[in-house]
Formats: sequence, structure tokens, C-alpha cells
Amino acid sequence: MSSLHTALRRLSGSSHCSQIANENPDRRRLGFFLCQNACMKKINKYSSLISALLIVSACSQDTAPSSEPVAETRDDQIDLIIMGDYVVSMDESGSVYEDGAVAIDDGLILAVGPANDIAAEYSSRETLAGENRIVMPGLVNGHSHAAMTLLRGVADDLALMDWLNNYIFPAEVQFVDPEFVRIGTELACWEMIRGGTTSFVDMYYFPDTIAEVVERCGMRALISATVIDQRSPDAENASDSIQKGIGFIERWKGKNSRITPIFGPHANYTLNAEQLKATRAAATEHGVGISIHMSESPFELQYSKDTFGMTSVELAESIGFFDGPTIAAHMVWPTEAEIAILVERRVGVIHNPTSNMKIASGISPVTAMLQAGVRVGLGTDGAASNNDLDMWEEMRLAALLQKVDRMDPQVLSASTVLTMATRGGAIAVGLGDTTGSLEVGKRADIIQVAFDDVHHVPTYDVISHLVYVTDEQDVASVIVDGKLLMREGEMLTIDTKRVALEANALAAKIQAALSERNQK
Ligand SMILES: [Zn+2]
Repeated sequence: MSSLHTALRRLSGSSHCSQIANENPDRRRLGFFLCQNACMKKINKYSSLISALLIVSACSQDTAPSSEPVAETRDDQIDLIIMGDYVVSMDESGSVYEDGAVAIDDGLILAVGPANDIAAEYSSRETLAGENRIVMPGLVNGHSHAAMTLLRGVADDLALMDWLNNYIFPAEVQFVDPEFVRIGTELACWEMIRGGTTSFVDMYYFPDTIAEVVERCGMRALISATVIDQRSPDAENASDSIQKGIGFIERWKGKNSRITPIFGPHANYTLNAEQLKATRAAATEHGVGISIHMSESPFELQYSKDTFGMTSVELAESIGFFDGPTIAAHMVWPTEAEIAILVERRVGVIHNPTSNMKIASGISPVTAMLQAGVRVGLGTDGAASNNDLDMWEEMRLAALLQKVDRMDPQVLSASTVLTMATRGGAIAVGLGDTTGSLEVGKRADIIQVAFDDVHHVPTYDVISHLVYVTDEQDVASVIVDGKLLMREGEMLTIDTKRVALEANALAAKIQAALSERNQK
């Protein structure tokens, strides 16, 4: 860019822009950007006058000594330009740019459009080439228990309550400590970044440790402090877990813009109505949301009717549980009346098709919920019930499961499923203004997918390929908040060799202890 442009950009960072920045720090980045655009428009209007002034100024500098020639400075460069044969924006109108690019500075998306236009407007310190690459928003995993990667495959082929009560809960009480959570979450972040997931909603124990890992690895996450009325790895009962959760929220709220602390009441079969109400009250008092398992299995359906005389969604509605932001994972068994409640209370529902199939929880009425206007995203659930964190697989299974369930291949199209994994998922978990699509002013959470592998040849329809063909191994580069976390398959923020060694060493101890227990 020219020195004139540089000078104009400097002028645009004037008092009006600074005023917005100072008035409201939360709006600072977006406000500054929008303001800068507004200022640029005003400046362009008077550009000939300013040009004349600059020429006069430059002429007068000719006669005076100058130690810093304007032409040499490069502070007009933005941080990053990401190019692609296709840029799939996932904005509301479904814009796809062939030979497109995304301009990024200071973690924000500055522009999305044809590569030629971006190149004419911006110069960047780093550029990711776009040959055989699809650029799209990073995936949003709306429900996970990240550290359970360390329990991957430890107990398969069991019903939910048998699996939870006889394997997972006892194993967790015995083995889960901050070190387990650190290693398991690092392993999960590695797997998620490798597969193009940039944001996730987690629910597990020792949430401070989860947050510390997320802070280091560079991902974006909503991290739930688990609330459960039984002895768990980090608390004695429900009130103890709420108290510990409050401490976590106070330590992490507002600390890092990528990390949102929330409460994670486990379910209504591990908490009674008073404890659910107390959790919502604590969340409201601290201005945070909630993530919960809801209407997951036939067991829960029966338990809820026997214990509360109503279904899980009806119970939640009757006690004011939906009075604040709520993410409800699974939602396999809602009635029509409950779906209406989910729409009205703006509950974000997360569909976990692999977990629902593996534990035989049932088939969620995703098509009906979407048609009714429920905000539905996708999640993997924990790696102990999946057994991986592959959002491409979730997309594919979500589409196929609805088609066979409804005996209609037209329900849940590829583009609807891709929306659930990106913009729709971001809206469902409360990150709709921040991420989920490539739009000016959103944070730069972006992936580049390679499509030169044999299974992508030929390419007639890029959206079809992304949903029905792409695997996590096709993800080439991953950017969160404008920072590269993986470049052409190379992990940049996680020491993968160390994590693999630590995970295998811990798994060997778990295996030995489980064998000993089973022999008794
Ligand atoms: Zn879960």
C-alpha cells in the first residue's frame, strides 16, 4: 500500500475511534474497526484535499532533515491473508467465493471476498496460499468432555447407566485428578485442532486445569464447572460442586476473551430439582450460562416421570431453569410441546449422533426441531462414548441418521448440517456474534481444508464434499482468534510428542488398575 494510504490509516485512528475504545473496552476491537471504516469513508471524501496537504507536507519535508522516511514503514501491513480455491463463508446468504481470500488483523476478520480484491486492498505479513484449499469457519463442537480422551475405549458396547455407574463414574473417582485432566485435555485439544475444531463446549472436573490448557493451546471454549450430587473427582456433593464452580467462574470470567466459564449441572438424574434451581441461581448471580445433559435416554425419560411426574424439559421449565442461557446436550426424546418450549426459551440444543447411536439412546428429532426453530448445533460428546472428537463424522452421521429415520433423503441437507457445525452451532452455544462464519467483524476462527486427496476428485459441489467426503486428516491449517494453531498439518501450540508419551504412560497405569480390580 502507498505511503498516502498509510498516512490516511494513521489519520483514521483519530479521536472519535479512540473515544469508542475508551468508553467500552468490550466493544473496543469491533468498535474500533467499524469506526475506522467510517472514518476512512469520511477521509476518502476529502482525499483530494488531504492529498494536496500531504504533497505540501512532503515538499516541505524535502527542505527539512527527516530521520524517518514514510515510504520505508510497513505498519500498513495486516497480520494474515488466507487464500483458497473456494472460500465458504457460511454467512446467512451462503456466500461462496471461488479464488477467494480472507484478510485478518489483530484477530479480526477485516474482509472476505475475491482474492484479487483482497490483494488490491491489503498487504500482509503472512499469507497462506490457496491452491487446492477450501477456506471455511472452524468447527464448533457444542458438547464434549475433553479429558475423557484418556478413557477412550476403556468400556464399550454398554447401555448408558451401566456404562456410567459401573465403569465411568468409578474409574473417574479413582483416576481423575488435575494431572489426568491436563493430559486428557491436551490430547483432546490436539485431536480437535487436528480435525479443524476451533471452539468447544466442555464439561468435566477441575475446570481451572481445562482453562489453563485451552489458554495455552489457543482454542476457544466454554468451560463448564461440573455440578453433580455424588462424590466426584473434584467435589463431595452438589453444594460443594456449586461452591467450587463459583470459585472457578470468579477466577476466569473476563480473564481471557477465548475462555467463557459456565456451570455444568450434569443431569436431572444426578441432581434434584432444588439443586438444579440452586445451580441456575448461582449462574444468574454470576452472569454466566449453563450446559446440561437433557432428555438423553429412555432411562432419563422414565426416571424423570417417576421422580418429578413430568419430563426433563417440563421440569426445567417449571423450576425456571431456562431463565438464562442454556445449552442442552442430546435432546433425543422431546415431545412437540417440549420443542415449543425449547424455541420459546431459546435453548441451544446439541445433537451428538455418534454417542446417541453407540449408547443406543435413540434418534433425536433434529429435523422437527430445526423446522420448529430450535437452535441446534453438533457435538461429539466425550471420547469414551464416541470414541473420537471428529466433527466431520458427526456431520455425516447427523445427515444420514435423519434421512433413514424419516425415510426421506431430502431432510437435513449437506448445507444445513454444515451450518449446524459452524454458524448454527455457534449461535446455539452463545458464540453467534463471535465466531461460526467468515464475516467482517467476527473473530478469525478459520480452517483451510485440503481437497487434493483422491476422495475429493472430482469436485462438483464443495458443500457436498465437506459434509459427505472430508475427514479430519484433510484439515491443513487452523487459525483461532487470528493465530495459527496448525500450519499444513504441523501443530504449533501443543508438544504432541510429550502429550502422547504422557497419555500412554497414564493409560498404562489405568489399564493395570482396572485389570487388578476386575480380577478381584
Ligand atoms: Zn456428555
